Amino acid sequence: ESQCPHILIVLGASGDLARKKIYPTIWWLFRDRLLPGNTKFYGYSRSATTIPEIRARCEEYMKVKPKEAELYEQFWKLNKYVSGTYDSRSDFEKLNQEMNANANGRMANRIFYLALPPSVFEIVTVNLKQTCMAEKGWTRVIIEKPFGKDLESSQKLSDHLASLFTEQQVYRIDHYLGKEMVQNLMTLRFGNRVFAPTWNRDNIASIQISFKEPFGTQGRGGYFDEFGIIRDIMQNHLLQILTLVAMEKPASVLPDDIRNEKVKVLRSIKPLELEDVVLGQYVANPDGEGEAQLGYLDDKTVPDGSVTPTYALGVLRIKNERWDGVPFILKCGKALNERKAEVRIQFKDVSGDIFEGKPKRNELVIKVQPGEALYVKLMVKTPGMAFDMEETELDLTYSNRYSNIKLPDAYERLILDVFCGSQMHFVRSDELSEAWRIFTPLLHRIERERIRPIPYVYGSRGPKEADELVAKNNFAYSGSYKWKPMDSS
Ligand code: NAP
Ligand code: NAP
Repeated sequence: ESQCPHILIVLGASGDLARKKIYPTIWWLFRDRLLPGNTKFYGYSRSATTIPEIRARCEEYMKVKPKEAELYEQFWKLNKYVSGTYDSRSDFEKLNQEMNANANGRMANRIFYLALPPSVFEIVTVNLKQTCMAEKGWTRVIIEKPFGKDLESSQKLSDHLASLFTEQQVYRIDHYLGKEMVQNLMTLRFGNRVFAPTWNRDNIASIQISFKEPFGTQGRGGYFDEFGIIRDIMQNHLLQILTLVAMEKPASVLPDDIRNEKVKVLRSIKPLELEDVVLGQYVANPDGEGEAQLGYLDDKTVPDGSVTPTYALGVLRIKNERWDGVPFILKCGKALNERKAEVRIQFKDVSGDIFEGKPKRNELVIKVQPGEALYVKLMVKTPGMAFDMEETELDLTYSNRYSNIKLPDAYERLILDVFCGSQMHFVRSDELSEAWRIFTPLLHRIERERIRPIPYVYGSRGPKEADELVAKNNFAYSGSYKWKPMDSS
């Protein structure tokens, strides 16, 4: 396939995502010679801009090393920009003509990356379908969240896309699926004998999947306020991780075998109810510094009196033979005490204990970020003469074990997957609709009844009610575990 020409078209090339993520990613893929030999790039948006201007705007994100200067020039020489509106067919015809006029453009496979606000998705995809499809090769379309706001709007978008493209042509990005430790879940579960026999309700007490961010809206809460943390993080990123933790073993590693299992596990989950949820909204920390002195409602772009949650904890239950009775606790929040994303699998107490209740529960922690790691908390005899016991860990810290390996950014893997035609790490439309089915009734109820989120202080761990609900759902926190970081020098 490397001989065949390819074109990647960034629609919304003047925008934020293009500047911070898409152009840097395609440059790194080009730099590392991972793209097919004959690939060209087109930018398209309404702005009367130029490639040198786009280049200047991207500069701070490109991380160009001095020895790459020449390659970097070559990269930009392969870029072109076409200005046009989103609703005019003739502007898209112009884009198509420009691509065709370029050497081999007519023969090229085409990837359209929709880096645009959802308000123009429909008209843009109609115009693409009518004027810009590849004549000889394939056409693929990448879209970014939000994929609708609820089951109905998401279904409408899916139906619209299905009227124009096949499912094989549509790549819905959930960038968590491009992260090393998320991709690792399959290998860990199905490539090791130790885990399989214990991966079930007989051995596991509860599972937590968490996302924490140490900053607030940073003055850009207007966009966030329309969606809130459940739509922004829980319904997509955390639920995707849940499916990979909970699904049955797929028949093979083929993308649709995996996605079939993901859908199946989602179908065993009932819609989330308010009783199983804690909602929070951060308030200022008067002793804090900088942004910490501002609460969510102090952000001028956030509507007065907004009840949009910036923190949410939800307990999902999977009614199947493997997981019946095991709470899956999803937690996410902004303006918390730390940055982290992790999966924490807590095992049950030892049965027939002979140690007077001293053993603490085992935990397997899969740390997605920052600092990829995998550790199991376990009990050992306190070393030395004493016959006491204490918690310690089996620890696989990637930066120690794999010190020479650079882990690619999630977008690098995912965009490369689109070139290769691998949909394994992309969200299929039936997965998406199951995900919305689980969250839509709750989201509608929160909005209809204007459920007040619980205030929590910027920089804290979130509302204390969250810890209470976690404790009720069979997660035991002892506070006695002490980690001793290894000297990585
Ligand atoms: P953006 O900067 O707001 O918009 C991209 C471009 O679309 C703008 O440069 C503008 O280009 C055009 N545009 C903006 N508002 C428009 C409107 N009302 N009508 C018509 N055109 C408009 O968006 P973005 O942050 O790049 O995000 C693009 C997509 O990715 C969105 O769906 C977003 O939700 C999603 N996303 C973004 C991020 C991120 O980090 N930014 C992360 C995840 C998902 P012209 O005026 O030049 O046409
Ligand atoms: P831990 O201290 O036993 O805490 C377990 C989790 O319980 C915490 O992450 C916290 O998560 C939650 N928690 C904290 N206070 C709580 C409370 N009062 N009530 C209920 N839940 C509470 O064990 P750990 O977090 O696994 O490890 C401790 C530290 O060592 C962490 O910083 C960890 O990253 C580090 N460590 C790193 C490695 C490695 O990188 N290889 C290996 C082992 C340990 P939430 O705040 O999300 O609720």
